[in-house]
Amino acid sequence: MSDCIFCTIVAGGIPADVVVETDNVVAFRDIAPKAPLHVLVAPKTHVPNVAAAAREIPEILAEMAIVAQQVADAESGGEFRWIFNTGPSAGQTVFHVHGHVMNGGSLGWSE
Ligand code: IMP
Repeated sequence: MSDCIFCTIVAGGIPADVVVETDNVVAFRDIAPKAPLHVLVAPKTHVPNVAAAAREIPEILAEMAIVAQQVADAESGGEFRWIFNTGPSAGQTVFHVHGHVMNGGSLGWSE
């Protein structure tokens, strides 16, 4: 989608600090990290949220989980929190599905 910031990142139109990339998935550091480890894992295909990803690109959603684990293996001893905000009232601001891979510091339940 031309007006989607994460599609623009996937297309190379905005620089991103990419930590893992596969044919289908990209993982890059959040521009405003809320924890010492805060990486976003997104499919290269545009789908709006995690349920749509499960319906439309289930194999790539599974690949996102594997990439999230790879990020955590490299940066946080293999342990991580994985968050999918879904909808504005839950804090979603970018409507291209992405999992927040987080760890470190003192993560509270709401962070
Ligand atoms: P959401 O609020 O769950 O949709 O998460 C969107 C995340 O994208 C936020 O944590 C933002 O800090 C992050 N973000 C927005 N623009 C960029 C960018 O250009 N590069 C990296 N992260 C971004």
